[in-house]
Amino acid sequence: MRIRVDSIGCRLNIGEMDALARRFAVKGHRIVGPGEGADLVVFNTCAVTHIASRKSRKVIRQLRRTIPNAKLVVTGCYAELSPAATKSLGVDLVVPNTDKERLPELLTERGFIAPGEAVPGAALDHQGTLPGVRTRAFLKVQDGCNNRCTFCIITVARGDARSRSVAEIIEEVRDLVRLGYQEVVLTGVHLGSFGRDHGAAHGLEGLLRALLRDTDVPRVRLSSLEPWDLRPELFDLWSDPRVLPHLHLPLQSGCDATLARMARNTSQREFSAIVHAARDRIPDLGISTDVIVGFPGECDAEFEESLDFVRSTEFSRLHVFRYSPREGTAAATMPGRVDPQAVTERSERMHRLGAELDTRFRRGFVGRDLEVLWESSEPFGDGARWSGLSGNYLRVVTDVPAEADLRNTIQPATIVGAMPGALYGRSASSVETDLFAPGQRVAAY
Ligand code: SF4
Repeated sequence: MRIRVDSIGCRLNIGEMDALARRFAVKGHRIVGPGEGADLVVFNTCAVTHIASRKSRKVIRQLRRTIPNAKLVVTGCYAELSPAATKSLGVDLVVPNTDKERLPELLTERGFIAPGEAVPGAALDHQGTLPGVRTRAFLKVQDGCNNRCTFCIITVARGDARSRSVAEIIEEVRDLVRLGYQEVVLTGVHLGSFGRDHGAAHGLEGLLRALLRDTDVPRVRLSSLEPWDLRPELFDLWSDPRVLPHLHLPLQSGCDATLARMARNTSQREFSAIVHAARDRIPDLGISTDVIVGFPGECDAEFEESLDFVRSTEFSRLHVFRYSPREGTAAATMPGRVDPQAVTERSERMHRLGAELDTRFRRGFVGRDLEVLWESSEPFGDGARWSGLSGNYLRVVTDVPAEADLRNTIQPATIVGAMPGALYGRSASSVETDLFAPGQRVAAY
């Protein structure tokens, strides 16, 4: 059976669908990408903001229109919060988040898929990775969250925190390594709380130690971590080069008064302390973050404080969100709604600052060598322009001869230039072209 899996939203959503694709493939189904015919589509929705909900609806409509004969199955946070609205978009089956883990079995029970007819594992391509699925494996190790940040709807959709067992995760990582994946990204709604529901005070540290000791995974990356979950001792694990020098620490606001209304368990002082501890121990560390602008009660002075803190923290990348109230959250009923025009202006200023910080961080690597996991290529002259990610989460592009295939390999690149959104690198396979000539082709990006 030809099955397409798709998702929008966080890395956790991506991880869930990657894992689902692997399970379907192992059962003998063919995983197809966009543009290929499909008999069944599973789409994982998001509801973290109004925009994400709207986009979820839009994608469902598109899928229904473009693949009219496929069975359409929809799950994820938007489907969980609005099942009737989801169904009304022409969806054949809405699956709650609690049943997501057992989708292959559920779909077989409901008659949506027949047991796989192909040879188990035959859907894997020559490198062991799945067509239509990325080269990095997003691995869900935890779900749910016990915090109650006042803007967050995700806890309503995902429930309380629960962790998988270390033994089960180790087994899955070994399988991923056997399949050829070079990088595993550990994901969870509240990854830093990993293991606490099993009584482990420092569960994430234990998990990382076990992964490094018991598997040959070439690269491990951590997805989003709440700053209050981290203790400086965790960063000692980065002495192993397989743990990648990138942290995503959601700040949400750089103003203590706003943070208090958001019910975040952190402050400027605590956030700075953990950032300094991480930078002391992890060379070349990239720290990205999320920031909300226009939270209820955020006056001009609070916004300026937040902006200053973001600037002084020198993040490598910012994800900026305009606050929008979500029914069912505490913040939705808070007074002090910010004028939409002011929210737009704040968002633009924060975005501009993000671009500045991003450029500054990237330029610091010109003239240096970075290890890159090469992911995809597009035709370029007589060769190909390859794109990949460095350990500290910088996009690097290089040009190589047509016969070279860098996909899913880790190879160094010497960084020779920076442009918006990416670095130019020369890899061992690079050809001499004008891609790297000063001022050339920058406009192409
Ligand atoms: S830590 Fe806060 S923002 Fe993150 S999932 Fe939990 S409640 Fe939501």
